[in-house]
Amino acid sequence: MSVPATVVGGGLAGCEAALRLARGGREVRLVEMRPIRNTPAHRSELLGELVCTNSFKSEDTANAHGQLKREMRTLGSVLLDCADRARVAAGSALAVDRHIFAEAMTRAVEAEPRIHVVREECAGMPDGPAVIATGPLTSDALSASIRALLGDDGLAFFDAIAPIVDRDGLDDSIVFAAGRFDEDADYLNCPMSRPEYEAFVAAVREGESHEGHDWDAVPYFEGCLPIEVMAARGVDTLRFGPMKPIGLTDPRTGARPWAVVQLRREDAAGQMWNMVGFQTRLKIGEQRRIFSMIPGLAGAEFLRWGSIHRNSYLNFPARLTAAGAPPGRPDVLFAGQLTGVEGYTESAASGILAGINLARVLAGLEPVVPPPTTMLGALLRYLREADPRRFQPMNSNWGLVEPLPMDVRDKQKKRELLAERAQADFLAWMGVHGIAPAARVDAGASSVGASA
Ligand SMILES: Cc1cc2nc3c(=O)[nH]c(=O)nc-3n(C[C@H](O)[C@H](O)[C@H](O)COP(=O)(O)OP(=O)(O)OC[C@H]3O[C@@H](n4cnc5c(N)ncnc54)[C@H](O)[C@@H]3O)c2cc1C
Repeated sequence: MSVPATVVGGGLAGCEAALRLARGGREVRLVEMRPIRNTPAHRSELLGELVCTNSFKSEDTANAHGQLKREMRTLGSVLLDCADRARVAAGSALAVDRHIFAEAMTRAVEAEPRIHVVREECAGMPDGPAVIATGPLTSDALSASIRALLGDDGLAFFDAIAPIVDRDGLDDSIVFAAGRFDEDADYLNCPMSRPEYEAFVAAVREGESHEGHDWDAVPYFEGCLPIEVMAARGVDTLRFGPMKPIGLTDPRTGARPWAVVQLRREDAAGQMWNMVGFQTRLKIGEQRRIFSMIPGLAGAEFLRWGSIHRNSYLNFPARLTAAGAPPGRPDVLFAGQLTGVEGYTESAASGILAGINLARVLAGLEPVVPPPTTMLGALLRYLREADPRRFQPMNSNWGLVEPLPMDVRDKQKKRELLAERAQADFLAWMGVHGIAPAARVDAGASSVGASA
């Protein structure tokens, strides 16, 4: 008889991993702590519960989230099958009735004869083969065990995310490349005059932020304060902090600007630029409005929005193998939001891959990861190659994906070409490694509302 696998966490990633393993013929013990022990955000004992929005975002494949879903469907995602059954009308987005969705996920898992669901808290690292997908609210006991394995800097409890902008949308007549005191020219700089700066600070001060819950209260560190907290301290605080202009000369004026927003390269291809020191709890609409006031960013596309919240995630690039295994334990794979991917579908996709790879490892095969021309492969490349000193979670976006070999100016056309190539490469990757879609589930839930 084959060795059974343990999957810890019955959330989006854990359910996908367990179903993938079970449908491949493996016995699975799925350990979920709810309702014995609850997280501060979950409200039910259902598997696959959505803790916040009921939307899985766009289905348009020229949209990064749409392409990720297409790759997941190609792999036979159970989450998307259940989402189709629980769909509510939401234009081009895939939105669901959250209760029908979670019931469908629970039924899909419970209907699988090879999955044995155990309701208990997993307090330590499992001894045998396992997928660990305990999410952003991993319990304290398991967190302590993970830290014992990976070191104190191997697991963070809060993220502090600065927005990322797409290189294509920057205004090159304003933004200039330079490092402070010319030590390097690796940064892009958005210069501000005094009136521009003061208007910006006033807008940040008045901007609406997320209130958050008590359990989500972030212990701010002085070196990593949200920009709105700095702005509230005094009009010059940001100018003496992340927006300091020291060592920078605007080539248009030959003078030092009053303040500067610096952008740091986030990827080797230079498609994604991180707004240095701009971690924030401003609401997304406010970020869009206020950050567009920054000279050079009026037409920028934001690939990732800033945020700061309670979020357990591993230092993947420093501590895990390409497939998400800790040192010396190739038969244990981390998956889901815990690995540093951000979002429902990103987490679920990572769970499918962990299921595929644990099955491969147990069959004596090497784990595999899709190429960086695909959305899932590009996300995984980010986890592997991001700077471990400032690793922060990432959602799917086109800036992660390997650029096209030719220059395409039209943004829509470019994204259609990227999506076309991603899908072709994803299918080729599956073919080379003999990966077939898992059989579709009959979760028994009916569709509600009109589909998009
Ligand atoms: C408050 C909040 C709001 C969010 N809002 C959004 C949003 O709007 N959109 C979005 O895309 N993403 C959102 N996220 C992120 C979202 O949680 C993830 O994208 C997604 O749920 C992650 O899937 P997962 O399977 O990795 O973790 P989860 O879905 O959280 O599943 C993890 C499971 O592991 C269980 N567990 C934890 N510890 C143990 C243990 N020791 N033993 C056994 N079981 C354990 C938990 O009970 C849970 O069921 C939000 C997160 C939080 C915390």
